[in-house]
Amino acid sequence: MPLTPEQQAEIDTQRGESHQTLRATAPGMEKHLYTAHPVLDHGFVRVIDYMGDDRAITQAARVSYGRGTKAVSNDEGLIRYLMRHWHSTPFEMCEIKLHVKLPVFVARQWIRHRTANVNEYSARYSILDREFYIPAEDDLAAQSQTNNQGRGEALQGEEAQRVLDWLRDDSTRAYDHYEAMISQEGQQGLARELARMNLPANIYTQWYWKVDLHNLFHFLRLRADAHAQMEIRVYAEALCGIVRDWVPAAYGAFEDYRLGGAQLSGKGVECLRRMLAGEEVTQETSGMSKGEWREFMGVVG
Ligand SMILES: Cc1cc2nc3c(=O)[nH]c(=O)nc-3n(C[C@H](O)[C@H](O)[C@H](O)COP(=O)(O)OP(=O)(O)OC[C@H]3O[C@@H](n4cnc5c(N)ncnc54)[C@H](O)[C@@H]3O)c2cc1C
Repeated sequence: MPLTPEQQAEIDTQRGESHQTLRATAPGMEKHLYTAHPVLDHGFVRVIDYMGDDRAITQAARVSYGRGTKAVSNDEGLIRYLMRHWHSTPFEMCEIKLHVKLPVFVARQWIRHRTANVNEYSARYSILDREFYIPAEDDLAAQSQTNNQGRGEALQGEEAQRVLDWLRDDSTRAYDHYEAMISQEGQQGLARELARMNLPANIYTQWYWKVDLHNLFHFLRLRADAHAQMEIRVYAEALCGIVRDWVPAAYGAFEDYRLGGAQLSGKGVECLRRMLAGEEVTQETSGMSKGEWREFMGVVG
């Protein structure tokens, strides 16, 4: 359960209120405000606030370009131009503030994105909820044979069941001990800041995370990518849906140039030219390593 009925009622109340404003609003984003989008078994992302829309990007770009940008009259065309040429600061004019509930091991990956503002739930001050991420059986997979940083085939039958049982039992036992340590019944009760240290990395934490659109795109490019771990990728994918509704033109350019596009090395460009000229290029004649060649063929093959 990502939300308790009380938490849902609080959100409903907030969604029932509206305020008049002179600021630009994005209709696609208004429908997401405060709403919790479930992710994994107990997690969610929800938009707490945002600033700007597609027009905020082009407005800022036209100021910084002065007269020079007048030729790019169409907003969508200008946004695509900015994205194509890595002119990133206009995208920083849009901001988003999120409330995210996520397992600690996912938070450890997420927090590596330093260009955001974060405030996390304090397990020194508050007692953590008994909520652990337990993967769906289909998501339990063996170590990949080709990628040291990934998973391969799904675990089968008894092995999958054994792993699930261990994950559940260990989480339950660790939380039972956590509760017992902080309890003040018949004992002093260990401080929360110490008792939390026995909790496993699949326990859920929460934070508010504020980031500008440029750095959010950077996050999404890395974390909505097939190479990202599934458990963070599903958060990135939920965010992609929200950003698409918020700034459709900017998201469209991002999807085209970054998510759907590819970057080639100098050797890659040269090989492509030789291939287009009719030459049969192989890994041996490409000047690329096996890994580079595999990735290159993944793009052009
Ligand atoms: C598939 C994948 C696997 C990964 N594996 C590992 C791993 O095994 N081990 C590990 O430790 N990490 C790993 N990471 C994390 C990765 O190395 C980055 O830390 C993370 O993706 C954040 O990227 P970033 O630094 O570009 O983002 P941000 O911190 O948001 O920074 C954005 C950009 O700002 C600039 N910037 C920010 N801070 C500084 C700074 N202090 N100095 C200079 N420039 C700065 C850089 O240009 C940076 O690209 C992995 C990430 C991915 C996506």
